[in-house]
Amino acid sequence: MKEGSFPSAARRFEAVGFSEIVKVRNRVLELLAAGHRVWRFEGGEPYMPTPQPIKDAMAAALARNETRYAPSSGVPELRQAIVEKARARNGIPADNDSAIVVNGGMHGLFSAFATLLDPGDEVLMFSPYWTPIRDVVTYHGASPRLVPAARARREGLTAALAAATTPRTKLLYWNSPVNPTGEVFSRPEVEEVCAFVREKGLAMISDEAYEDLIYEEVEHVSPASLPGMFERTISVFTLSKTYSMTGWRAGYVLVPERWRVAMKTIVLYSINGVSTPTQWAAVEALRLPDAFLAEARQGYRRRRDALVAGLRASGFEIDTPPAALYLFPKVPDVLGSDSRAASRALLDVARVATVPGLVFGPEGEGHLRFSFSVAEDTIAGGVEALRTFAAAPAPAAGR
Ligand code: PMP
Repeated sequence: MKEGSFPSAARRFEAVGFSEIVKVRNRVLELLAAGHRVWRFEGGEPYMPTPQPIKDAMAAALARNETRYAPSSGVPELRQAIVEKARARNGIPADNDSAIVVNGGMHGLFSAFATLLDPGDEVLMFSPYWTPIRDVVTYHGASPRLVPAARARREGLTAALAAATTPRTKLLYWNSPVNPTGEVFSRPEVEEVCAFVREKGLAMISDEAYEDLIYEEVEHVSPASLPGMFERTISVFTLSKTYSMTGWRAGYVLVPERWRVAMKTIVLYSINGVSTPTQWAAVEALRLPDAFLAEARQGYRRRRDALVAGLRASGFEIDTPPAALYLFPKVPDVLGSDSRAASRALLDVARVATVPGLVFGPEGEGHLRFSFSVAEDTIAGGVEALRTFAAAPAPAAGR
């Protein structure tokens, strides 16, 4: 290095993108700073605050001076509560040492990929997918192999997965309920995918962030609960969505013994454990009675139905999704099929913020993602703005 020159960031970042959702958010912030009213549907978090007993549990932990280092994989009481939950609610045959506490789902996923991937490996994933996964795979020098989900579900999952599999395929990233579509894979579908994973000797990373946000009579099936799957699956969970704890950064993974040392090593050297008071709050979260979730679901369902009805009335074609926090309608014809241009037009003219579907993979193009987990007056105001826009779209909208 010459004097006065500067080393560049590591080369692996050359292929890694940075969330496009952040770009939408920045544009929204610009509009807000300029004094505009914006109807915000671009986010992805629970509409309500963290339940009071969880907050009280953190205060109590602080009062007890639970403020020192905890074991880096988590306080024993929390790890035990996680294992019990995984057995009882997910049917996962988790042994007592299988739970590791992580800094939210994102950290759990990053650590899971870091545990399993070598440069040159390939990762099967259905598309559309949650945006950061592609970048996390690329960061590790591996390549995503996208499997178009709608076609695979129509024409056969095994054949679609087989067509994307090569000798370099190491694992399958699985996410159900799905961000961005709000769909839930059925038990026969999970069984079929897991049979494929077992037969090919692959690993699975199962992202179950939305396991509790299901509004219809459909079942959430944890892949690791199926025969022979716990041994080859890292199951990733988060408290963010279930308990309205996005800002707390708390999640957990269940890891089979063969990968546990690697995963614990990553957690040790990346965070050396989640904040101790937060972990005590998490113990309380896992103890909340089911009534809390039943009530939360009612609030989500009401918002989902109101936004579906409003979007239909504004010319969007949309089926009601059974789960998660999102609607993923097709862009109405008047706005064209370029989701970035459509999202930009809605933001600039109607002041309605959405995420362009393209950021969730090529199969997301032609769609927009709306979060229905917003205040009910945001739904009312946003729908009104969309109706006005649909009645007289401005020429400047870039149709
Ligand atoms: N997985 C999926 C599919 C998600 O949508 C999210 C959050 N948007 C996460 C994992 C991670 O959430 P967190 O890091 O807040 O736990």
